[in-house]
Amino acid sequence: MNLLAHEEVVVRRGKRSGIYIVISIHSTVLGPALGGLRLWRYGALGDAIADGLRLSEAMTYKAAAAGLDLGGGKAVICVPLDLELPPDERRELMLDVGDIVDSVEGRYVTAEDVGTGTEDMAVIHERTDHVVGLPIDSGGSGDPSPITARGVESAIRASCEHRYGSGELAGRRVSVVGLGHVGGWLAERLASDGAELAVSDIDPAKRELAERLGARWLEPAEATAVECDVLAPCALGGAIDAENVERLRCEIVCGAANNVLADSSLADRLAERNILYAPDFIANAGGLINVYGELHSLDRERLDSLVDGIGGALKRVFEAADVRSVTPLEAARAVAEERLDATLDLPALVPAAR
Ligand code: NAD
Repeated sequence: MNLLAHEEVVVRRGKRSGIYIVISIHSTVLGPALGGLRLWRYGALGDAIADGLRLSEAMTYKAAAAGLDLGGGKAVICVPLDLELPPDERRELMLDVGDIVDSVEGRYVTAEDVGTGTEDMAVIHERTDHVVGLPIDSGGSGDPSPITARGVESAIRASCEHRYGSGELAGRRVSVVGLGHVGGWLAERLASDGAELAVSDIDPAKRELAERLGARWLEPAEATAVECDVLAPCALGGAIDAENVERLRCEIVCGAANNVLADSSLADRLAERNILYAPDFIANAGGLINVYGELHSLDRERLDSLVDGIGGALKRVFEAADVRSVTPLEAARAVAEERLDATLDLPALVPAAR
């Protein structure tokens, strides 16, 4: 990641909540920077800023590779480790977020992400129009997770097609790590496809879903290293790191989590180990496509066809990677960069700020 590549970073303490809110705008070259609002507990403000910088850059690549007229941005709420957030204080916090989002005058559009939901977006909407992912009864597109899961399923099929010559999922051994909003929907879809499912979550209450789907339950510590065809990381980022990459016993990594790889050099190690990696920002673009649809009032049919196109986009990435003898991550980044380069209209002195 190039830390000097971002167009704009706003760090402000909410005037009602006193909590730090960070807006990171990586690029507006293709359109307004759109990316979710993450509410997370951080030990230090610097960690929240670093997260925002990293996540907003990934959003630029995601929008560009998905062919959307959007830039990349992210907002992060830096909740101190020991702070309780009762509902009235959460509301104040979201009003603060609304004010700060509004202050960047549409260069950044917010949406839900880990730790926030459609009801939070409705509160933010009281202070700004630059918000999507509103509840359906407020005219929004609601929870994007089912659509994201649909896109990840399409990506898993394309990955299987590339590796095994068939996208058929019946009997395919898939391990879903993280049964949250997206992972839960994905597990449901895979179960109805007839996949042989193993699932895991740090929340033991998710065992109930595993039982209902007839999935094998794995303890989180063993989940990443389980023998399977497809490992689908659907929890937080950094699921694959320098240590556990050596213990993987899957043939494909394709999931919903943003920043699956703790660092991008791990894409090389996966390739050396003959594990096919579906770049996260291609596989999980469904959520972004969903809110793009809300922004541009696309109908359901158009939206579904865009999301189902994720498999085709990934297929082209795999083919380009094979032709150029590079990793799928490098090939996917090249797709995004080509589009950004073709649109870029900035003075030569700031070529990194795309
Ligand atoms: P979520 O918070 O609803 O779900 C995450 C789940 O992972 C939770 O159930 C949590 O208990 C579990 N978990 C956390 N650490 C774990 C671990 N070490 N092992 C096993 N389980 C663990 O979040 P979500 O909305 O489902 O998003 C999941 C991932 O997908 C995130 O990385 C998010 O950025 C990404 N993503 C989500 C969307 C969307 O539409 N929600 C879109 C694109 C990308």
